[in-house]
Amino acid sequence: MSKESPQMWFVTTFYKFTVLKNQNKADLEGVKSSLESKAQDLNIEGLLILGPDGFNTTCTSTSESALKVWKEWMQDYFQSSGIFFKDSVSSVRPFHRFKVKIRNEIVTIGAPDLVPNLEENHHLSPEEWNKVLKEEKDFVVIDTRNWYESEIGTFKGALAPKIEQFTEFPEWVDQQQIPKDKKMLIFCTGGIRCEKGIYELQRRGYDNVWQLEGGILNYIQKHPNDQWQGECFVFDNRVAVDQNLQPSQTYKLCPHCGQPAKTKIQCQRCDTEACVCEQCLKIDWKKDTCSKNCAYQLELHPGRKGKHQVRVIENLRK
Ligand SMILES: [Zn+2]
Ligand SMILES: [Zn+2]
Repeated sequence: MSKESPQMWFVTTFYKFTVLKNQNKADLEGVKSSLESKAQDLNIEGLLILGPDGFNTTCTSTSESALKVWKEWMQDYFQSSGIFFKDSVSSVRPFHRFKVKIRNEIVTIGAPDLVPNLEENHHLSPEEWNKVLKEEKDFVVIDTRNWYESEIGTFKGALAPKIEQFTEFPEWVDQQQIPKDKKMLIFCTGGIRCEKGIYELQRRGYDNVWQLEGGILNYIQKHPNDQWQGECFVFDNRVAVDQNLQPSQTYKLCPHCGQPAKTKIQCQRCDTEACVCEQCLKIDWKKDTCSKNCAYQLELHPGRKGKHQVRVIENLRK
């Protein structure tokens, strides 16, 4: 990549709940190979979570037309029209390869047989969402994401559970003792977690729950600098996107734990610059080292210098 012409990546995030065994696609390993070989043909990079209940993915390409072909091919392959693609552009390379991970559930809430019917559940467009937030009084807004996601950005007035994973979400809501008929607005990054979360809440007796259509990514695209505050965590090397859906200028991935980090340090062992997260800043050896290796070596041999660390930290959690 030359410095004269900065490279751009076209990015798209999308998901589909679909029962693959009804499409004779019960063989997930087979589906995985088909996806990988097509992605290779088209030079697509990204991460795709594949399960018996569908898929969830963020894909990128340096060619806008290749990404368009990929989207069309995916809709044909999964016999799914009307997929909602959340698009953006990035000057940071979000992925370094294409990877398919097979899971029992594409969004883990502990109900693999639950396949949402997207037409029938309560969705609010970004406009409708804004109308409630700005004009109504009697409602709660709830962030369904994990603690490290809501820490760097969320909706004004939102309740943010400090959960480690989504499976803890329904129980957290129960603990809040929110009246079952209270108007409840839930949101997540791209909409997929809410698709399952809303069924789980309805099953528990909450009958006035609404989800943000297309998630935060869709909202920010339509209404930057409005009811959303801060940045939106994403599961790739951009770490987060700002109000213009541009890669974060503020956050890097903490080399020790992979959480968003913004405190710049210079490594005591090798002088490499890195950003360390709030949690790791509290820990000796981690607070001023650039990598797991430097932390380990510095603990063994305090004061001894080492070679510059070359490392690629990939944000492939999910
Ligand atoms: Zn950390
Ligand atoms: Zn170092």
